[in-house]
Amino acid sequence: MENTEQLQVAILVSPGMGHLIPNLLLGNRLVTHHNVRATILLVTTPTSPPSESHLLSPDLNIIEIPPVDISGLVNPETKVVTLLAIMMREARPGIRSAISSMNPRPEVLIVDLFGTESFQIADEFHMLKYVYITCTAWFFASTAYCGNVLDKEVEGQYVDQKEPLRIPGCKPVRPEDCVDPMLDRNNQQYREYVRMGIEYTFADGALLNTWEDLEATSLEALRNDEILRSVARVPVYPIGPLKRPVDPAGSQTEIIEWLDMQARESVLYVSFGSGGTLSAEQITELAWGLELSQQRFVWVVRPPTGRGVDGSFFQPGKTGSDGTPDYLPDGFLSRTGSVGYLVQMWAPQVEILSHPAVGGFLSHCGWNSTLESMDSGVPMIAWPLYAEQRLNATLLTEELAVAVRPEALPTKKVVRREEIEKLARRLMQYREGKGMRDRVRQLQCSGERAVSKGGSSYNSMCQFVEDCRRKLKS
Ligand code: UDP
Repeated sequence: MENTEQLQVAILVSPGMGHLIPNLLLGNRLVTHHNVRATILLVTTPTSPPSESHLLSPDLNIIEIPPVDISGLVNPETKVVTLLAIMMREARPGIRSAISSMNPRPEVLIVDLFGTESFQIADEFHMLKYVYITCTAWFFASTAYCGNVLDKEVEGQYVDQKEPLRIPGCKPVRPEDCVDPMLDRNNQQYREYVRMGIEYTFADGALLNTWEDLEATSLEALRNDEILRSVARVPVYPIGPLKRPVDPAGSQTEIIEWLDMQARESVLYVSFGSGGTLSAEQITELAWGLELSQQRFVWVVRPPTGRGVDGSFFQPGKTGSDGTPDYLPDGFLSRTGSVGYLVQMWAPQVEILSHPAVGGFLSHCGWNSTLESMDSGVPMIAWPLYAEQRLNATLLTEELAVAVRPEALPTKKVVRREEIEKLARRLMQYREGKGMRDRVRQLQCSGERAVSKGGSSYNSMCQFVEDCRRKLKS
C-alpha cells in the first residue's frame, strides 16, 4: 500500500513509566504490523524516566510536549490522579500546537487513561478519538459504570458499602478493592475519575490491553450486556497483551549472570513497580519473611516511605559492614548472601522474569508487571499497593488462580514475616504453586496466540484500523 494511504494516528501519552511503555508498544504494533503511521505525543515532566529507547521502532515518531508549570495548582496533598489530570489539562495548548504543526495531520487521536480532555482537540481538528485503556476490561467497565451510574446511585462512601458494587455482567467490585480515586468521594481525584468515566463513553472506541481468553466475562458484558452497553456504549478492541520485549542490553548485567547460576524456577523475584515503596516496618517483615522462607530471591529494594513517621533517620546509600542497606535488618546480607540478590531501586525486570531460574514474582500487580509475569509463565504473590492494583490482584487470585495473596490488604495491615514465609513456600515449593505455574503457562500461550497473526487481538487491531478508515470515509 502507498504511504499516502496510511492511516495517520497520534497517540497522546500521560507522564509515567507505566503509561509510556504500553503506549510505545501500541505505536510499535500499529507501525510494524498494520501499515499505520503513528506519532507519540509525550507529555513530559521535569524528571525524565529511565531510557526506553530499545522499545522505539525506527518508524515511530515522537514529539515531546514540554513540561508545564503546575506548581500553583497543586500542593503536597494533591493525589496522583488529580496531579496527572491537571498535567494533561494544562498541557493542552502544547498538544494542540503539536497536532496543528504535524504534516500530514493525524486523522485519529488515541489518548490514554488520563488524556480524555484532549478529545476536545480531536473534535477541533475533525479527528476520530479513541481511548487506550492500558489495563483490564474490568477496570474499563467499572470506571465507565462508576462515572455514569454508581456516582448517582450510591450514597455515602463506597468503602462503607456492605455489599460489593454491582457492575452489570462483570464480577462485582468489593468495596475494599475499589480503585484509589474511589476510596474517598470527597477528594478531587474522585471528581476527576468520574469525569474520565463519563468521557470514555464519548470515544469512537476503546482499545484495551487485554485479550479474549483472559477476560471473557468482562468483554462479553461490554459487548452484550444490555445495561452495561447502554452506559459504556463504545466498541471495545481487546488488543493485548502488549508487553515489553527482552532488551538484549539488559541481558548482560550482573544480576542475569547471578541468575544463570541458580536452579530452574528456584528464584522469587520481588518488586513493586516503578514507584511502589513500603513502610520501614513492612520492609523489615518482608526481609525476615524472605529469609525464613529459605527461598532464593532477587529483591528490588527502595528506602522506606513515611520517613517523617518511621524512617526519617534512614539515609539512602548508608550500609552496614556487610553492605546491607540500613533500612534492612542488621546482617541481612551476611545471612542471605548465598541465596539472595539485592538490586537497589531499579532492575531489568523483563529480562529477570524471562530467565528460567525465576519461578515466582512477588508483585504490586501493576498491569505491565502482571502481563510481563504472565508472558514469562511466572505465577505471583499479589501484593497490591495503589491505583487499580487491588482489582488486578483479585482477578489474578480469584478468576485466574495464578497467584496467592496475603489475608489482609498490605495497605491496611502490615503483612507479618510468618505469613510472607508461608506465601513464598506455597508459591515456590508446594504443589499449589505448581498448579498456578501450569495455569499461568496456559495464559502465556493464549496471550502469544492472541497477538500473533490471525489471533483474536491481532484481528481486533485490524478491525480497529478498518473501522477508522471506514469512519473517515463516511
Ligand atoms: N520496571 C522495571 N524495573 C524495575 C521496576 C519496574 O523495568 O525495577 C518496569 C516494569 O517492567 C514495568 C513497569 O516498569 O514494565 C512498571 O509498570 P507497572 O504497570 O507494573 O507498574 P507501575 O510502575 O505503573 O505502578
